[in-house]
Amino acid sequence: MIELDPPLRALRDRCRDAAADLRSRALSVDADPADMADHLDSPTLAMVRAASTPKRFQDPSGWQGEYTDSCLSRAVASLELAGGDAGLLTANTGPALAGIAVDALGSETQQEFFYGSIADGRTWTFFAMTEDARGSDATAMETRLDPDPDGGYRLFGAKRYVGNGSRGATGVVFARTGRSPLSIRAAIVRCPTPGFAGHALEMTGLRGALISELSFDGVHVPREMLLGAHLPASRRGIWGASRTFNVMRIQIAAMALGVAFAARDYVCDQRPGWSGHELTTARLAAARALLYDAANEVDLSPDDRRTPSIAKLHLTDLAVQVTGWAANALGPGSLLLHPLLEKWCRDVRAFEFMDGTSNILRLHITHGIATRRPTS
Ligand SMILES: Cc1cc2nc3c(=O)[nH]c(=O)nc-3n(C[C@H](O)[C@H](O)[C@H](O)COP(=O)(O)OP(=O)(O)OC[C@H]3O[C@@H](n4cnc5c(N)ncnc54)[C@H](O)[C@@H]3O)c2cc1C
Repeated sequence: MIELDPPLRALRDRCRDAAADLRSRALSVDADPADMADHLDSPTLAMVRAASTPKRFQDPSGWQGEYTDSCLSRAVASLELAGGDAGLLTANTGPALAGIAVDALGSETQQEFFYGSIADGRTWTFFAMTEDARGSDATAMETRLDPDPDGGYRLFGAKRYVGNGSRGATGVVFARTGRSPLSIRAAIVRCPTPGFAGHALEMTGLRGALISELSFDGVHVPREMLLGAHLPASRRGIWGASRTFNVMRIQIAAMALGVAFAARDYVCDQRPGWSGHELTTARLAAARALLYDAANEVDLSPDDRRTPSIAKLHLTDLAVQVTGWAANALGPGSLLLHPLLEKWCRDVRAFEFMDGTSNILRLHITHGIATRRPTS
């Protein structure tokens, strides 16, 4: 079992304190996720933006540090911050998931361009992979990057369920340059631009993420915006990004668990002395140990899909169970009387679909077991 060392404990405490700022804004962003103007100055969101920016691109006058340099530190921070509000975390400007893809696939010049384009702290990014009915099997995607006779490429197709897509100004869009899975590539796209359209979809949970539908009708993509040209052919596109999905699964698991802890604490606060907390508290403590172990395992074996799949499968399910337990614990009418709890009950259901649904994770887990080499 992983014990946090002093720097990780300090990170945990810092994020736990910072979570209160997110909590104070949670219901307002849930009610109107498009209205982020006042919230972008939140010191906690500024810290998250800075922490997810590589040190060499950080603003020297802002928060200095990086908690995204290991999967374990990401897990520790995300768990605590999501206890404040997961919706706010997904509503933030800054590198987010697109940044992880650019770090994995971009050349130094492309990284400089990407981080320079969002340095003002007011710019949303998006990561556009999913297509309608082609979510779980991204290799079946149909969005195309066709060669442009005038140079570069033209992007044609549509994406769905893209976080912050309709308000994003710098996106990473996955598309195919040919029919083979290796021809799926990613490009940086700056918006608005001719041929691009995006609109937000109605959401029930994690409304801050403003998931959107995007269309690309001949959007011009300069050749230098195609990521991965400096990498071997097998690591230029979707396969090159696969390690980032393992990290994201841990981060989503951590956020789900953070919401579950928040719901447990809320019940403890509203019904102090009630004996029903003990089992839930024990399950949450065991889940946190699983999360830290799994995050550490990803740091040690970044290509292993089984461990992060186990963590995400278990923790997203546990979060749904714990919020349901909390609603029952507070009695009939609890969801009407406790707006935060009602929000958490909606939010936790969205985690299952982010970065691999539970069925897909089960497939990864069984595949991992079936192909595991026996230890001698
Ligand atoms: C809050 C939120 C934020 C998101 N953000 C982004 C984003 O920023 N960028 C992005 O690109 N996408 C994003 N997504 C989309 C997400 O990645 C997809 O929803 C997910 O990949 C599932 O795809 P789908 O919704 O098309 O479901 P489908 O793939 O159509 O699956 C529907 C159901 O069928 C099951 N299923 C599918 N294939 C199999 C199989 N082979 N075996 C057994 N069962 C199967 C699934 O488990 C699921 O229950 C987001 C989604 C949510 C909810």
